[in-house]
Amino acid sequence: MQGAGEAAAAARRGASNAATQTDSMSGQIPRLSKVNLFTLFSLWMELFPSIDCQKTSQVSMLHVKKTGLVVVKNMKIVGLHCSSAHLHAGQIALIKHGSRLKNCDLYFSRKPCSTCLKMIVNAGVNKISYWPADPEISLLNEASNPTCTEDAKLDAKAVERLKSNSRARVCVLLQPLVCYMVQFVEETSCKCDFIQKIAKTQPGFNTDFYAENRQEKIKEFESLFLIPSEEMHKQILMTIGLENLCENPYFSNLRQNMKDLILLLATIGASVPTFNSFGFYCNESQPANEACHQSMPQEIARHCMIQARLLKTSCNDWNCDGTGAMYFIGCGYNAFPVGSEYADFPHMDDKQKDREIRKFRYIIHAEQNALTFRCQEIKAEERSMIFVTKCPCDECVPLIKGAGIKQIYAGDVDVGRKKADISYMNFGELKGVSKFTWQLNPSLAGAQGLQVLTANGSKYWDLLITCV
Ligand SMILES: [Zn+2]
Ligand SMILES: [Zn+2]
Repeated sequence: MQGAGEAAAAARRGASNAATQTDSMSGQIPRLSKVNLFTLFSLWMELFPSIDCQKTSQVSMLHVKKTGLVVVKNMKIVGLHCSSAHLHAGQIALIKHGSRLKNCDLYFSRKPCSTCLKMIVNAGVNKISYWPADPEISLLNEASNPTCTEDAKLDAKAVERLKSNSRARVCVLLQPLVCYMVQFVEETSCKCDFIQKIAKTQPGFNTDFYAENRQEKIKEFESLFLIPSEEMHKQILMTIGLENLCENPYFSNLRQNMKDLILLLATIGASVPTFNSFGFYCNESQPANEACHQSMPQEIARHCMIQARLLKTSCNDWNCDGTGAMYFIGCGYNAFPVGSEYADFPHMDDKQKDREIRKFRYIIHAEQNALTFRCQEIKAEERSMIFVTKCPCDECVPLIKGAGIKQIYAGDVDVGRKKADISYMNFGELKGVSKFTWQLNPSLAGAQGLQVLTANGSKYWDLLITCV
């Protein structure tokens, strides 16, 4: 047991060395590898709040589990999807992307069923990675329905046959986390705008709130994404063609790897918590009947903001598209201009204070990257929104407005402040864009407006997700 633990730790150290070389911004900040980011996004997409009731197809004898899917082209995200009431995630991706799936890499939160796999393989995808727990067609016989389990096993067999006859690589791609990744993310999550705002505004706020909330999330996510019994997990791995992972140390390494990633997801998931009536609300009275000023449901806003925070763990540019009625049109992170070398600009590693300050003149802000590398146009008639993990600065505020974005979801702890070279004076004064900042629900009447929106949700929401 101890030997396996040491091997995992050694593997983690190895990965840490490899990961820091590829990343020009990282300095000593531990970063999530792209492969792990895509994997965590697939799990996170599985948790996307369902607007329509999530029901298993009634015609089928099988227990089809909701699945998240990330479509990646040239290491960039081009699609984020999850199963709907009537379609599997793989089917939705096929409808959205069609033959553009050719040469893409797909990251599933569950091993896809034969119905999805055959179409995806047929579209010419390059690689299919999946989270190695219960597959899309559930093999956990919780329903204790023998017919159901038999059919699920037959489907698993069909999947194996399709896999061995296809050119696409169907595999498990999990990488060990770099050293201190979880601790680092825990510290930054605790200090993020959303937790800080609650701590500052709630008298008698329990400082353990974040830690408790995180513990709850860990439990919740482990029950969803990990098979509690090791024996059962091994049995499932055997059925889905991963018998080579059932032996130790592979098996214990795999479990540890999965647990670490779940821990990371829970650590970030707890950073935009459900607390009292906190949510993203607009302070100014808006023409509420205008669709483009209505907020989206709080659960979805929280989900997107956590996604933006997740993005922050990895230096990664991505363009996204498609989640039911939502289209992700781009996202970004803070970085030096494309093509610049690490040494071209002053950076975090420099101990001198003034150099550290001056780096802000060269950094392309997350919002600016999201706008530059968007994969769709921002249309005047659509409700485009941007998620920013902190307050947008004075350089970005006019850009956001000028680009035609209708709504900003942001933290506002820094609003009205000046920090070295960067100032946040204009966000408060910004007019013509609805600002939804993290706060207690100013009026309970606001909550009803949301339901109207969900009911008549005919308009698309366009999203830009960024992290600062
Ligand atoms: Zn399927
Ligand atoms: Zn900015």
